[in-house]
Amino acid sequence: MACKGPLKARNFLWRAAKSFLLTTLDLHARRVPIDTLCLICQCNHEGTFHALVERPAASPCWTEIQMSIDICQSRDFINWLNFLFEHYPCEEVEMATILCWSIWNNRNSKLWKNRTKSPTQIVQGARTNLLEWQRAQEGGLFRREQVTEAGMVKWNKPKRGEVVCNIDAGVFKAKGVSSYGALISDDEESFVAAIWGRIRGVLESREAEALGFREALSWLKGRNVTKVTIEGDAQVVVQALRSNVIDKSYFSSLICDCRLLLTDMRSYSVCFVRRSASLVAYLLAGEASLFSK
Ligand SMILES: [Zn+2]
Repeated sequence: MACKGPLKARNFLWRAAKSFLLTTLDLHARRVPIDTLCLICQCNHEGTFHALVERPAASPCWTEIQMSIDICQSRDFINWLNFLFEHYPCEEVEMATILCWSIWNNRNSKLWKNRTKSPTQIVQGARTNLLEWQRAQEGGLFRREQVTEAGMVKWNKPKRGEVVCNIDAGVFKAKGVSSYGALISDDEESFVAAIWGRIRGVLESREAEALGFREALSWLKGRNVTKVTIEGDAQVVVQALRSNVIDKSYFSSLICDCRLLLTDMRSYSVCFVRRSASLVAYLLAGEASLFSK
């Protein structure tokens, strides 16, 4: 898994993507009698996109980190997020994730304490958080796997009646857990089903990814899925599944399990995809570690 970032910030992003933030617009939609104007600027309705990205309140923060908020045409938060994941390098995605979180914290501090920070202070806070998190990781940035352009595949629309399954996993050393998520979408790219779960103990990243694959494949089998395109951003797993090399490692035994499960499929393909295509699975993997205590 290439992009990480602090778990709290990832979980925050998940809630934002699912419209769980309870902006004034969300509360209004839930029939809470409330003024839907933005708490910060008082001149727009406060939806997720407005609260986290849009001018006038949030955009100075994005300017501060030299990221244009007009990265895509859409005024929709999930589209914006997808675009970000698709076109920006990992470091910037992580910074953007944590900045969203800091902007929201500032909004809440306005709500509860009537105190706000300047955009510069918000960005500084986000930078500090990110640095602290990076230092806390063993080896930090330098151990991160480099993903090369070669071997990347573009999104191919599945054939009629086929499904796509995105798989992702993450290792959360501080909490002593690993988690995985998988998501099925149909040939119209519509959501069909998702699972996520916790794997006890801290694993090597490639083992966590392979376990995620195995869990997802047995889940597909249980759902009688027989024609599937499997997409994951774990290059090491995708490569291992395509090769015939076997050794005595735990990783290799997991790959064998996966191959066995795949032989039950009528047709399948396993593809390596960039982070963007597995955004949802990525968010699910973060979700799993939060709720599985
Ligand atoms: Zn506003």
